[in-house]
Amino acid sequence: MAAPASPPIALRGPALSFTGDPFRDGLDATLVHEPDAIVAMAGGRITHFGPAARIAPLLPAGTELRDYGRNALISAGFIDTHVHYPQTPMIASHGAQLLDWLNKYTFPTELKFADRAFARDTARLFLRESLRNGITTSCVYCTVHPHSVDALFEEAEQIGLRLAAGKVLMDRNAPEGLLDTAQSGFDQSQALIQKWHGRGRLLYAITPRFAGTSTSEQLAAAGALWRENSDCLMQTHIAESRDEVAWIRELFPDRRNYLDVYDHHGLCGPRAVFGHAIWLDEPEMQRLHDCGAAIAHCPTSNFFLGSGAFDIARAVRKERPVRVGLGTDIGAGTSFSILTTLDAAYKASQLNRQSLSAGHAYYLATRGSARALYLDDKVGRIAPGMEADLVVLDMRSTPLIDSRMNEARDFAEQLFIQMTLGDDRAVQATYVAGRLVHARASGLSPPNRSP
Ligand SMILES: [Zn+2]
Repeated sequence: MAAPASPPIALRGPALSFTGDPFRDGLDATLVHEPDAIVAMAGGRITHFGPAARIAPLLPAGTELRDYGRNALISAGFIDTHVHYPQTPMIASHGAQLLDWLNKYTFPTELKFADRAFARDTARLFLRESLRNGITTSCVYCTVHPHSVDALFEEAEQIGLRLAAGKVLMDRNAPEGLLDTAQSGFDQSQALIQKWHGRGRLLYAITPRFAGTSTSEQLAAAGALWRENSDCLMQTHIAESRDEVAWIRELFPDRRNYLDVYDHHGLCGPRAVFGHAIWLDEPEMQRLHDCGAAIAHCPTSNFFLGSGAFDIARAVRKERPVRVGLGTDIGAGTSFSILTTLDAAYKASQLNRQSLSAGHAYYLATRGSARALYLDDKVGRIAPGMEADLVVLDMRSTPLIDSRMNEARDFAEQLFIQMTLGDDRAVQATYVAGRLVHARASGLSPPNRSP
């Protein structure tokens, strides 16, 4: 099904996109910064992109031109590769590390999703907050309740979002009200795949929460389900904290390492997204590379729970690069802002004695994350034919940023200022399938419109 029809619209302003992977080929060969660009959209897709002077004469009659001015930045919409929408109500809960966090905060919150209305209200809040932060695609964990998936997909469908989500599978080590069984989890997921996967822009993600809450039997059922539906995503958690790694070793003493627990059950391959992966060893990284699976890097969550500092430079090493995307991991993550999340990614990198460049960071938040989800032929960059999901940043969104920008010597520095100091206030507008779905309120001038 095509994206919802929309009239031709063209956005004008500075623009940023990527023609390839800067971790592999360098920024000079891959980063496109067009200081005065036009991005035109029609029928849910991008139709034109390039210097305004070249594109303007090509626009069809009747195109509405929205000029965001020279202090804007038009980018592909941000992509969140790992997030739990049911944890929106428990963001900013104090004082626990991963395994305690699950028992103390996560499971009691997820039990509330037995109530459909609560699920629907939370899905609305989650999507509204995502759009306020320029996030146009997310890969989402729901709860064990199938209707928690319906609630999110129903809301996302109305907006026209490209979004992946799945019902969490858990058959042990959680409260009774949050458990399914290997068979019921398989059957419910199968029914949700038939209902939602490939409907409009929606995609299903088979979602065993992690090896600590699924028996071997359930992991095998998830693997069988994925084999039957190999164009679905598969998402789970791995090697987030050291205590968790030690616990999984006790639970699966026969497996070589943590990744082998999933691999053994048929859960490694293209479109697998492993959250965190901080404590993987070299053979596990090599295996992720070989099988085409991805890591979701969730730095605000990793710092909040004290889990560790993911070494992205190691993960993308040129001899065996692993696909890496960015995740907010709400509610252990502490912000819906992708700019704030990139700030944390920079700091995680610093703790590994590397300095993530701003260009690499924006790649990670857009095309890199699209590639992690195997969606880079659809979203994540600005180019004709791509789906028209865009974010328009305001590069002078606060008095401090405004002042600091006056001192910036080049575009790389301007980008770095945004990811270090910026937040939701920097998101002027969000477009989904060529339609404006969020425009920042408050005393800021709307785009100039001309017929
Ligand atoms: Zn998570």
